[in-house]
Amino acid sequence: MSSTESVRPEPRAEVMAIDAYVPGKSGVAGLAKVHKLSSNESPLGPSPRAIEAFRANADALASYPDGSSRRLREAIGRRFGLDPEQIICGNGSDELISLLAHVYLRPGDEGIHSQYGFLEYPIAIRAAGGVAVVAEETDETANVDAMLAKVTARTKIVYLANPNNPTGAYLPFSQVKRLHAGLPANVLLALDAAYAEYVARNDYAAGVELVSSNENVVMLRTFSKIYGLANLRIGWAYAPARVVDALNRVRGPFNLNGAAIAAGAAAIEDAAHVAAAAAHNALWLPWLAEEIGKLGVRVTPSVGNFLLLHFPRTPGKTSVEADRYLSARGFVLRAVGAYGLPDSLRMSVGTEEANRGVVAALEAFMAGGGS
Ligand SMILES: *Cc1c(COP(=O)(O)O)cnc(C)c1O
Repeated sequence: MSSTESVRPEPRAEVMAIDAYVPGKSGVAGLAKVHKLSSNESPLGPSPRAIEAFRANADALASYPDGSSRRLREAIGRRFGLDPEQIICGNGSDELISLLAHVYLRPGDEGIHSQYGFLEYPIAIRAAGGVAVVAEETDETANVDAMLAKVTARTKIVYLANPNNPTGAYLPFSQVKRLHAGLPANVLLALDAAYAEYVARNDYAAGVELVSSNENVVMLRTFSKIYGLANLRIGWAYAPARVVDALNRVRGPFNLNGAAIAAGAAAIEDAAHVAAAAAHNALWLPWLAEEIGKLGVRVTPSVGNFLLLHFPRTPGKTSVEADRYLSARGFVLRAVGAYGLPDSLRMSVGTEEANRGVVAALEAFMAGGGS
């Protein structure tokens, strides 16, 4: 054995340099009931029709699912007026975020994301052997000029979450088009519109038009947020045929299970349920932003189903202490130190009970109610 050989299998060095994604907490030790506001899940849960479709699939567990997720792609196509051949489904959109990096980056190639962009992007880029290049944001919002300034001959992919998680900020479609127009034609623009259904702004678009008229744009969507199906792991992309073809060659052959395909197709047909979830959010998002803002906690303007709260550094009022105080009362928020936001907590819009409860608890906390 030569001295350069290891005594055991060794992962690639770039893999071991990655910090694993840490999901939002789901519970508090010693508390039976908590309000989980740490993962941007829907307080309304899924459509009853999706639950029924999930249960009906229990009779088919011995059979492999349809590896092409045809039923689901056709249901998505009908709902959004898209060609099912240009849709590819993923085991959550996380899978598609990762596949795009693996398919389009060669070792040493660069992938760009914005400063507070979704943490899965640098993980995917680096896991593929690429270099994650960070573009500074302005006012916690992606800055198109800063992103374009980072483009080099090695750039192969640009990820933009719009709206972004964890900030809730968004770029008007005119800005997204400007970003696209400034990219070389060989650079893939991945528009992650996980929260698109929540956005009520005239100047917003998820990206369908850009995908339809270009070879280098992909739109990513998910059933984990407004559809309330995070547990089933269903994401999809609308992409140019050549991109769909490339991803289909390397994805798991049965990457969606049959229950996910059936429940997703049922969920997307229940437009009334989605509308109810959007209406709930439209009521509570501004209420929370206003009430929490009054307490001396700065809130980033959000168009998603969550808010980023910024705490003072004053001892007794810090984000770490707020997190502890709220957790002890059954309100589980999301620490976002991994995003370079150590003074902030992200809070999902919850049920009326959860929303009122958090505001009351934060009021007591900021008034110095102790821990
Ligand atoms: C939640 C989220 C997703 C969705 O991930 P899934 O794998 O589909 O559950 C994708 N992108 C962003 C920005 C998100 O916040």
